[in-house]
Amino acid sequence: PDEAALEALQHADVARLLPVPGAESDKYRRGVVGIAAGSARYPGAAVLAVSGALRGGAGAVRYVGPAGDAVISRFPETLVSDRGPKHAGRVQAWVVGPGAGDDASTVAEVLACDVPVLVDADGLRLADRDAVRARTAPTLMTPHAGEAAALLGVSRETVEGARLTWVRELASRYGATVLLKGSTTLIADARGGAVRVNATGTPWLATAGSGDVLSGLAGSLLASGLSALDAGSAAAYLHGLAGRYAADGAPAGAHDVAAAIPEAWRDVR
Ligand code: AMP
Ligand code: MG
Repeated sequence: PDEAALEALQHADVARLLPVPGAESDKYRRGVVGIAAGSARYPGAAVLAVSGALRGGAGAVRYVGPAGDAVISRFPETLVSDRGPKHAGRVQAWVVGPGAGDDASTVAEVLACDVPVLVDADGLRLADRDAVRARTAPTLMTPHAGEAAALLGVSRETVEGARLTWVRELASRYGATVLLKGSTTLIADARGGAVRVNATGTPWLATAGSGDVLSGLAGSLLASGLSALDAGSAAAYLHGLAGRYAADGAPAGAHDVAAAIPEAWRDVR
């Protein structure tokens, strides 16, 4: 079937996925999400990924990388570590790649961790395919069409002409769940099952840093215990709604989108 034949995610599909803390919850049981992102050149990507992660349900957000000062000045609740991912402390899921520049060793180190990993942006280019395939914990990759095309060795136009085919192909080549961003978002699981479609977004989301917020949000849901398919689906849905609330008929920055996530969450619940 082509993309138009797939039914888009609905409120009820997402409502049952969102984590709710119980009386027995503590911050560790709620999940710690690790963010390995940002660089001297792109510290803002780290800040934005953390901003999404703080609104995604994890009990704590741990940051590793060179943008710790920027992150902590904006979000003092972040646990900032000056060690690499392997020695940073307890983490239930990692996000690696936004604004990472050319830091291939951090990407490799994160991929070697035996917890769910979300790979985005520069991380997609730096991730070794065999290292992704060798992972036993879930992997969620979140390319836009240009990034997907680069991984597949085809043109962007080719990907955009048959998104459903190519998202499945990417999932199969990497043995990973793949979330293909665009005006709608397609999420294909690693096992060739049904592809989910999210249509809550708005073209106002086509703004710098918007994808970094999505990565943090999805990583936080992964750390809360959702599967890669469910975390990607719920994150795309909430992020799209948050984009609508933030950019209600007027442009908004990616940080405004992150700030609107709680409103989207309340609306879905
Ligand atoms: P990135 O390209 O990594 O910054 O991510 C951009 C984000 O904005 C993704 O979540 C896309 O799905 C979303 N987005 C981009 N363009 C559109 C559009 N025309 N309509 C709806 N969502 C969009
Ligand atoms: Mg991006």
